[in-house]
Parts: sequence; structure tokens; C-alpha cells
Amino acid sequence: MGSRDSGLQTRFMSGNEAVAQGAHDAGLAVAAAYPGTPSTEIVETISRLPGVHAEWSVNEKVALEVALGASLMGRRALTAMKHVGLNVAADTLMSAALTGVHGGLVIAVADDVGFSSSQNEQDSRVWSRFAHLPVLEPADAQQAYLMTRDAFELSERHEVPVLLRLTTRVCHVKRAVLLQPAMPRPDPIEYRKNAERWVLSPGHVAKRLEARAARDAALRDVAEQSHWNVVTPGADRRLGVIASGPVSHAVREALPDAPLLTLGLSAPLPLGLVREFAAGVGTLLVVEESEPVVEPELLAAGLAVHGRAVLPPYGEISARHVRDAARTILGEPAASPPAVTAQRIFTRPPTLCAGCGYLGVYYWLSRMPNAVVCGDIGCYTLGASPPWSSVDTVLAMGASLGMAGGVAKAQAGDAAPRPVVAVIGDSTFLHSGMQGLLNLTYQQANVTVLLLDNSATAMTGGQNNPANGRDLHGGAAPVKVDFAKLVEALGVRPERIRHADPYELPVFVKTLREEMKASAPSVIITSRPCVFTPDFNRDLPLVVDEDQCNGCANCLDVGCPAVLTTRREQQVRASGKVVDLAWVKIDPQLCTGCEICAKACARGAIAKPARRVIALEPA
Ligand code: SF4
Ligand code: SF4
Repeated sequence: MGSRDSGLQTRFMSGNEAVAQGAHDAGLAVAAAYPGTPSTEIVETISRLPGVHAEWSVNEKVALEVALGASLMGRRALTAMKHVGLNVAADTLMSAALTGVHGGLVIAVADDVGFSSSQNEQDSRVWSRFAHLPVLEPADAQQAYLMTRDAFELSERHEVPVLLRLTTRVCHVKRAVLLQPAMPRPDPIEYRKNAERWVLSPGHVAKRLEARAARDAALRDVAEQSHWNVVTPGADRRLGVIASGPVSHAVREALPDAPLLTLGLSAPLPLGLVREFAAGVGTLLVVEESEPVVEPELLAAGLAVHGRAVLPPYGEISARHVRDAARTILGEPAASPPAVTAQRIFTRPPTLCAGCGYLGVYYWLSRMPNAVVCGDIGCYTLGASPPWSSVDTVLAMGASLGMAGGVAKAQAGDAAPRPVVAVIGDSTFLHSGMQGLLNLTYQQANVTVLLLDNSATAMTGGQNNPANGRDLHGGAAPVKVDFAKLVEALGVRPERIRHADPYELPVFVKTLREEMKASAPSVIITSRPCVFTPDFNRDLPLVVDEDQCNGCANCLDVGCPAVLTTRREQQVRASGKVVDLAWVKIDPQLCTGCEICAKACARGAIAKPARRVIALEPA
């Protein structure tokens, strides 16, 4: 933290932290989100700021509805989500775009450009066109702070939800942010019943569409005048560049002499400003991550522009990409390759943590290649990777159960149907898996559901949820979900609801086999906490007895990163069969003492170290 002569504070912040601070300084009253990389820290940061109700809602749709309810009561509200979260919230989004808002409502949506932690790459600006919503696109944390403040005013002035489109680079990169004085908290707008506006029955829709058309026209004027849409002049006017978001910094770096139009308020598109800009340059290049959104709009408006054809089709766009695109357009020779070739970096694929309960689950599922395993979104997605390679599908939050139902039904009448397993974690089940289970029981699809309760929304950093009985702040929540009761209420027969400890390999596999043979939907609940939760008990690290170890490598199939290979050998057996052997040791820093690997070792070569007893001399 620092300060300047002006008395204003400067803080070193990520974009997510800046959005949180900007919302707080704009008089935010309610913030609701479901965790999702790269957006998670927004509401986490807000939860540490005073005077705001912050919550983890059960999914993004509910979070948006919570924020909209607060807005209805005239309070400023924010919801945050990753790009795929907006798909979940889309039904409410489309309606909220028609009702409009009372108190300012900001939807901070973080697009994982480069899909570093997501199942796809999506451009949330597409939603803004679909729903007729304005979009602010910060290029860095400073802009994220200022735009968030402005977004509330824009939202209230035009009674419209505002999309604040962030990308991974803005969310996570830190810089010094000059804070502004907190805005005076606006007086709550008085709530009055207004069914014509807030009850979207068919008879009310036409009026709302008319209101939306008037709002569109007003917002077009705002975009033309916005101080966030900035022309930076340049001496080399052969090529003018239009950019938005963090890629505008890449353009400045690549083409410092080219005129640049930065679209901070990128929807509605300020066509008048673009035309004016176009008139002063030879040709236009649109640089945008991830989808061409502005480019087709300009083409449709009759402007000749270059864009995606000369830029990468996905992922982050760098200064080198922009330079190469400019050379292609201007017919200049390609740059010679850099003199120094970068060293290849040793890849380190993500894996489950040492002691994670999922290790036991996948140890066994990897030994059942005939089973079709429909996975879901969470750490357990990693079951698709070596050494387990057991998960067949991962698509979207909660999708495992519905897909598994389809796989089961498709095999109806087959002589030897494959067993079907769905794997889903506690938080994802509560997010959008429950409906899939209800469908399984309603349709009596023969699926074995592994409900992996690890007491956290683990993949995004161990956030609390209704399953662990703690609220966002870590305090006791009034609700702790009883999964056995919940799945019974969703139609699973009591005898088909089982509990199994994935650390107890033999008992776990016995339960799994029994339920896979059953001819009804079943749920096996595993309850081992994530190693990063306060519920996890770390034990003494295990050791390998080298005299006992015969190199069978069975323990490596557990996939624990604490089991390290020390030596590999190929041996030819008397039968002529060639076998791969590996000897191991255990990393005492990583090992949590869970004993899964010990249970996988038939020779008992892995065990807790003998405790040394130190006899103390009497004083
Ligand atoms: S973070 Fe938790 S749930 Fe995820 S792999 Fe590690 S121990 Fe398992
Ligand atoms: S006991 Fe074995 S499986 Fe468990 S954390 Fe230690 S090395 Fe990994």
C-alpha cells in the first residue's frame, strides 16, 4: 500500500481485487458468486471489505438472481462468474435484460482466454449483443477499478445490467492502482410494486421490448461520447488498429506509431467514432480476444477491416502476433526468427494431491476398463489423465449424471451392457448435479453415482459450500447438507445409498462392485476431506522397506505424487514374458500418511515408520 501527495491511495492489486475495491468504493451492498477461475478472488476480496453482504451462491444463475433481487430493492449489487458460468445464468440474464434494474447491477464475467482452467474458450461479449447489454472491457487493474465504479452509474442511469468483461490476464496480473475517494453511498431507490415491468408475462413483454429499444438508442449515444473509447494518434497512418481489453497494451507495444482506437465501452459499438477513426488511416485491423465480435459488426456496417484472418484463432494475443498481422496486411517481409531459441520447459501436468481421497477412487476405476465413466468439473476431472485414464467424458457442470443416464438407456436390451458410472463432487452436485440425479431415478437409469464429498469447492481454492456447513467467512452456516437424505429425497432407494471410504481400498472396491451389479440407480458417497481443508488430518509420512519391495510398481498405479520412482528395470521372466519393474521411495514432505499406497502393496513394503521411543532419565 502507498499514498501520493494528492492524498489518494495507491495499492498493488490484481484486476479481481481492483473490481472488488471499485465495487466497494461505489457503494456496493450485495455481492454473490459461484467460484470459478479466473473470477474467484472478486467476491473473496469483497468478503473482506466492510459493509457488504457477500455470499457463495450455489450456482451462477442463483448468484445473478440474488444480485438482481438486491437491485430490485434499490441497492447496488454485483455478481461475478467465469465465462461458462454466464451460460448457467443465461436464462435469468436474458430476462433481467428486459426488466432492467433499479440499483446498479454489475455482472463481472471473466473469460478464460487461453483456457488455462476451463473446458472451453468463450467470449462473453457475445451475450451482450444477444441480451442488449453494455460492455465495459478493462485493459488492466487500474481500468478495472475505475470501470467498475463507472459501471454502477451507467447501470443506474439507464436501468440496465452492465457486463464487465474481464480476461485471465486482467483478473490475475497485478499493478499499482490509484484509488479514488469512495463514492457517497446512494440513497436506496424506493421499492414500488410494478408488475408490468417485473412480471415478464407475455402481455408485458411488448412494452419491455419497446423500453429496450429506447435504451439501446440511448446507450449508442453514450458509447459515442464515452471517455473509455479513446483514440491515440500515431504518425504511421498506413494501419489503424481497433482493440479492446488487455490486448490494447500488446498493440501499443507492437505498433507504437500506429493510430489506436481503444474500445473500453465496446458495446454498443460506437460506429460514428469508428468511421471517423477509419477516415484518418489507410486500413483497419481489429484485434480482439477470443471471438471476432467487433470485426463482423464493422464488416456488416460496410467498413473494410482485417481481423481474425491474420491473427490466432484462439488464445491470448501477444505483441508478436500483432506485429506479424501488421506485416501481412502491409505486405512487409516476415520477421526473421529470434536468434535465441527458447529452451523447452519440462512439462508438469496437473495431478491429484498426495493424500487426496480421489486417488483411491481412480485406483479402482482405472482397473475397470469396461465401465463407461462420465466425469464432471472439479479436481476429479484429472481422473481422465494418466496413470488412471479412467474418465471417459467431462463436459460441463453437472453433466456427468445426465450423460450417464443416456449411456445407460442407449444400452437397454444389449446382451452385455457396459456398467455406467458417474463421478461428481459435492459442490458440483449442489450446483447442477441434483437435477441429473432426479432424472436418473425418474427414468430408472442404471447408473452408479460416485458422489465425492471432500468438504470444499476444492478446485478453485477450497471455498465453503452448503455441504461443509460453513459460510464464505468460515463461520458456521445454518445448513449442512446431509447427502444421504438429499439423494433419497431425489428418489434413490435407501438400500442403494452407500457410504465408502476411498482410503480403504478393499472395502471401497467391494461396495463399488456391488452397486455396479445392482439393477437400479445407486449412489456411493465418499467423505474424505480435501487435504487443504481444516477437516483434513495429516499423519506421519510412510516409508518404503527396500528389502520387501520387489519393484512390482503397483503403488505407482495409485498416482500419488509423493510416490517417487528411484529405479526402473525390465526383466525377462522364465516364461519369456518381459515385465517393467520400478522401485520407489516416498517423499516425506508431500506424504500425508493416508496409507492408500500401502493398501495397494501386496507385500506390505510400505508402512508407517517405527516410532522411536526416547526414554527420559528421571530428573
Ligand atoms: S485440491 Fe483437494 S480435492 Fe483437489 S486434488 Fe488436491 S486434495 Fe484432492
Ligand atoms: S501414504 Fe502413500 S498414497 Fe498416501 S500420501 Fe503418502 S505416499 Fe501418497
